[in-house]
Amino acid sequence: MKRISVIGAGYVGATIAYALDLKGIANDIVLIDTNEDKARAEADDIRHGIAAMGESAVRAGSYADCADCDLIIVTAGRNRLPNESRLDMIQDNIGIMKDVSDEIARYYTRGAVMIVSNPVDLLTYYCDRRLGLPNGTVFGTGCILDTSRLVRAAADYFNIRAAAVNGYVIGEHGESQVPVWSAMKVSGVAVEEYCLKKHSKWDASIKATIQTRVKNLGTNIISAKGRTHYGIATCVCMLTDAIINHKNVIASVSSPLTGEYGIDGVALSLPSKLCKNGVAERIITELEGQELEKLYLSAEKLKNALSEMIV
Ligand code: NAD
Repeated sequence: MKRISVIGAGYVGATIAYALDLKGIANDIVLIDTNEDKARAEADDIRHGIAAMGESAVRAGSYADCADCDLIIVTAGRNRLPNESRLDMIQDNIGIMKDVSDEIARYYTRGAVMIVSNPVDLLTYYCDRRLGLPNGTVFGTGCILDTSRLVRAAADYFNIRAAAVNGYVIGEHGESQVPVWSAMKVSGVAVEEYCLKKHSKWDASIKATIQTRVKNLGTNIISAKGRTHYGIATCVCMLTDAIINHKNVIASVSSPLTGEYGIDGVALSLPSKLCKNGVAERIITELEGQELEKLYLSAEKLKNALSEMIV
């Protein structure tokens, strides 16, 4: 019996529940929202698909269902407006995260806590402090979506399948994110070597074009349709499968650092090995000088935002 609670039954929470249900990842998926009618309606809508296509395990519940969960996923919080950065939402969403953390604390017995609400790095750090669980138990989706977008954008440029590209984004899920170009590979071959052999151009301007596309994708989608939810739901589905089925996946997710690259007192994304209790280990890889500089700037920016946060 695997149980997952999804807190917040808005676009993101409901799409996550739908994706989890289609993949048959858990026997009990509970949607919890202050708007109970909305949670019930989303659960009913998902449950009334063709029975043969899934277990239809989604139901509406209350915070008491956070007890004995394999995973608690937090999506409660308002969404970003077209002209806002993720950090602009902090004052609204920190109040919600305070309530959510206190409710989780009342019922928590075991399992990882995955934060999706934005600004995800700050809310992950805050929830971690508030719950006081072992490091890594509370983690955020962080740069998993940016990583997915980077891989897709690079694969489009090379005109190959995304599965052939390895790469990742670290730091803030936001403006100061850092694509780790030095680690990018195509089918195990360093990207520079691949491009040389293929006579493809690979220089600073190509990288800048891909980076800008990755960084602005969320904003562009929000400008056109008001929100993003499919991409993050797919990423959450992959992370959930990794956690509850013990798949030993390494993904660029956000967790409170404890001295990695000399950084602590902040949550940000690094490649991290996942286990049933969340992040088991953050992987320290060799970064090029500029990448390390940018990671420090990203950490500094997040620390400043934390120090200005009014709870
Ligand atoms: P939404 O407005 O559609 O849904 C938010 C839901 O949270 C609402 O149903 C609301 O009733 C509920 N809620 C508010 N306070 C609550 C509380 N105390 N307990 C339980 N539920 C509560 O928003 P959305 O589009 O679903 O987005 C949710 C969050 O996800 C936003 O912060 C958004 O920025 C974030 N997001 C993150 C990523 C990512 O990559 N991490 C991607 C997309 C969206």
